[in-house]
Amino acid sequence: MAAARAAVPAPMLIAVSKVQPDARIAAALDAGQTVFGENRVQEAQGRWGERFADRRDGLELHLIGPLQTNKAKDAVALFDCVQTLDREKLAKALLKAADAVGRMPRLLAQVNTGAEDQKAGVLAAELGGFLDRLESEYSLRPDGLMCIPPVDEPASIHFALLERLAREHAMKELSMGMSADYGVAVPFGATMVRVGSALFGARNYD
Ligand SMILES: *Cc1c(COP(=O)(O)O)cnc(C)c1O
Repeated sequence: MAAARAAVPAPMLIAVSKVQPDARIAAALDAGQTVFGENRVQEAQGRWGERFADRRDGLELHLIGPLQTNKAKDAVALFDCVQTLDREKLAKALLKAADAVGRMPRLLAQVNTGAEDQKAGVLAAELGGFLDRLESEYSLRPDGLMCIPPVDEPASIHFALLERLAREHAMKELSMGMSADYGVAVPFGATMVRVGSALFGARNYD
């Protein structure tokens, strides 16, 4: 069994720092964590552009929440990876921002694997067309795919679907798995897991 387990490479741990108090972030930094995920551009600017600005060197920041086009420039300036590319309008805004800022983050396309109305992401059936247009119209080629499974369904179905889609499109990165289900995501080939509360403790939204 040890050999079989060793065949699954360990995914990168993205510590999801949204809403967490500074003391917990500082503890993670002190422990050597270098990759962090954030949902909102403005909140992330306050944390990483201001309060922890002196500790930014060597860190890798991922945007894992929806991005509005009017925040594209701020996002491009701050983040090393944007995981939520899901529409052409956003691709266009990111390219324009990249021109202005002089850097382009890595990109992942978000897939709405459960076809949920309230959730962002490209529908699985439309992913091929979307990726084709990104390439032909904008010369953009995302490095991989990201999904957030519906809360009321087994995550494994969605992780299997995302893995199949990434394989079909020869994409390398699979961002899937959160506190409740990262253990499920790893055998399906997750290359990045996004873990918040299991690492930092519960988020307190008051
Ligand atoms: C908040 C969030 C996470 C982390 O959630 P936990 O359940 O705290 O691990 C992961 N991915 C996305 C997209 C998120 O919004």
